[in-house]
Amino acid sequence: MSLFPVSHPFLKRFDRWAAPALALVGLGLLLLETRRPLRRRTRPRLERWRRNVLLAAPAMPAARLTLLPAMVGLAQRAAPHYAARRLAQLPPALRLALEVLALDYLAYSWHRLLHAPLLWRLHRVHHNDLDMDLTTAWRFHFGEMLASIPYRAGLPALLGIRPATVLAYEAGFEACTAFHHSNWRLPLATERWLAPLLVTPRAHGIHHSQVQRETDSNFGVVLTLWDRLHRTLRLNVPQAAITIGVPAYPDPARQTVAQLLLLPLAPPQPWAHPDGTVPKRRTAGPPTTLHE
Ligand SMILES: [Zn+2]
Repeated sequence: MSLFPVSHPFLKRFDRWAAPALALVGLGLLLLETRRPLRRRTRPRLERWRRNVLLAAPAMPAARLTLLPAMVGLAQRAAPHYAARRLAQLPPALRLALEVLALDYLAYSWHRLLHAPLLWRLHRVHHNDLDMDLTTAWRFHFGEMLASIPYRAGLPALLGIRPATVLAYEAGFEACTAFHHSNWRLPLATERWLAPLLVTPRAHGIHHSQVQRETDSNFGVVLTLWDRLHRTLRLNVPQAAITIGVPAYPDPARQTVAQLLLLPLAPPQPWAHPDGTVPKRRTAGPPTTLHE
C-alpha cells in the first residue's frame, strides 16, 4: 500500500469532477471581483498575478502529488484502527457531520500554527501579497503544502476519517479559500447574513491586514464557528481602512518570485514597517458585527 497513491480512483475522481468545478468557481469569482471590487487595488493586477501564478506553479503540483495522495494513503493505513471502527458504528449522517466538523477544526488550528514563528517563515509568502484577490488564494510557498502533510493528512487518518470525506472536504476547502480571498464586494446585508456561518471576503480581508491584532484574527477556512469559540473573530474593521500585507515587506521590487521562494530561509522580521513604526488601529463596536 503506497503512502502517496497518486493514481488512486478517489484522486482520479477528484481530477475529473472537483478540479473542473474549482476552475469554474475561480472563473466566476474572477468575473465578480472584476465587476464589483471590494478593496481598492494598490498595485497593478498583472504585476501580482504573474508573481502569484508563478508561485502556484510548484505549490499546486506539490499539493496534487503529495498532500492529496497522502490524505488517501494515510487514511487507508489507519482504516482498521480503533477510531475508525468506532466512527463506523455511528449513523451515516452523524458520522459525516462529525468528520466534516473535525476536518474544519483541523484547518482552523493548522492555520493558527502557520502564524507561529517556525511556520510563519513559509506562510508569510502568502501574507505579504500587497493586495488580495482570487490569485492570493493560490499564492502559497510549496513548502507550506509539504509541511501540512502530517497535520492535514496524518491527523484525519488517526481520527479515522474516511479518505473520500477528506477529499470531498478538500474540494470545499479550496472553493471557500478562493471565495474568501476574492476581492468580490458582496452586498453588506448578504455578507452579514453569511458571516455567522461562513468565512467571507470582508472577514478574511481583516486577517490579511497589516495591523497585527487583525492578522491574529479570523483563522477559519470554511466555518466561523472556531473563531467564535476561540475568541479570534474580529469583523468590526471597515475594508477601506485596511492595508493588505505584512508591514516589514512593503516593497514590491523585493518580491520577485526567486526572493519569495527563498524567503523561508530568512529570519522572521519584527511586525513593523522598515522605519520601525507599528501599524495600529482602535476599533469601535462589537467584534462580531461586520462593517462595510
Ligand atoms: Zn494566515
